[in-house]
Amino acid sequence: MSALTIVMYHYVRDLARSRYPGLKALTVDAFEGQLDYIARHYRVCSVREVVAAARGRDRLPPNACLLTFDDGFLDHFTTVLPRLVARGLTAGFYPPAAAVEGRRLLDTHKIQLILAASDDTSKLARRLLDLVDARRSDDAMPSGEALWRQHAVASRFDGPEVIFVKRVLQRALPEAVRAELAQRLLEEYVGVDEATLAHELYMEPEQLRCLARLGMDVGGHGAAHVWLDSLPRPAQGAELDATLDFLTRIHGRPPVDWVMCYPFGGYDAATLELLRERGCALGLTTRVDVAHDLGRPLELPRLDTNDLPTSAATTPVAWTTTALGGRNG
Ligand SMILES: [Zn+2]
Repeated sequence: MSALTIVMYHYVRDLARSRYPGLKALTVDAFEGQLDYIARHYRVCSVREVVAAARGRDRLPPNACLLTFDDGFLDHFTTVLPRLVARGLTAGFYPPAAAVEGRRLLDTHKIQLILAASDDTSKLARRLLDLVDARRSDDAMPSGEALWRQHAVASRFDGPEVIFVKRVLQRALPEAVRAELAQRLLEEYVGVDEATLAHELYMEPEQLRCLARLGMDVGGHGAAHVWLDSLPRPAQGAELDATLDFLTRIHGRPPVDWVMCYPFGGYDAATLELLRERGCALGLTTRVDVAHDLGRPLELPRLDTNDLPTSAATTPVAWTTTALGGRNG
C-alpha cells in the first residue's frame, strides 16, 4: 500500500487573544494553512476508511492522511470542528475520561499551564528544585544535581529547562510528590482553581456526542491519562476497561473496531494483547514517522503538526526520520 500520514494535534486556538498566550499551541491561521496544504497534497481519510484497510476490507487511496486530535480540548469543538465540517473533512478525537467526565485537570496540562504562565523558565526550574529539596527529608528522592543531570536535556521542540520541569513533574518523582508539587506550582503561577481550568480546557460529554453525530471518530485516550507501560497487566486491563466504559457512555453502545490513542505514546506487549482481546482496531503512538504499511495496526506512528508546513504554497518534501524524538502527549 501507499504510505499513511497520521497527523497529531493538541491545542489549536486564537493564541494571541487567549488567556495563556505562552501555551505551545497551533494558531488558527496556522491550522487553516495546514489544512490547505494537506488538502492540496493528501487525501484525508476517515478513521473508518483506515480501519477498513487495516482489517483487509478495503485499500487506502494514494497519499492517505488521517487527522487526530488528542486530549479532549475544548479547542477541538470551538476551533477545529467548524473548520473540518466546512471542508467536508472528518478526523479522530481522543479525550481522556478523567478530563471529560471527572472534570479533573490532568497533571500534564497543569505543567503546560505552569510553563505558559512563567516568563522565566530557568527561574521556574530553580523554584522546582527548591520544592524538591524541601520534600527530600520525607521521601527517598534523588538529589537536585542528579535530577538536573538526568533530565535537563533539550528535545526536538523544547529547551533543557522546559524538559526538566516536564520530566520531573511527569515521571521522575514519586507520583504523590509530583502531583503535590504540580498543584503547588499551579497555585503559585496560574492561581485559578482546578474546576474552572478544567471547564475552560476540556469538552463535555455532550460536545463529544455532537462530534460523533457529525461523522467524527471519538476513541480512547485512557481514563486517567497515564503511561500504560508503567502499569502491571491487571491495572492496564482496568484502565482499558474504564476507557471502554467511557466510550460506551459517549456513544450509547459499546464501540466496535475502536481506536486507542496511547497517553504519552506509552504501551508494551501486554497492552497490545489486552487491546486485541477488546476488539481494538487501531493504536496511535507518538513514534515520529509515516506509516509505511498497516501490518501492525496497533502501533501506528504519527507526525506532529509541527512537522508539516502551515501554508498550501509550501513545496512538499518527503518526510524522513532523521529528526526522531519522543513527544509528550
Ligand atoms: Zn494525551
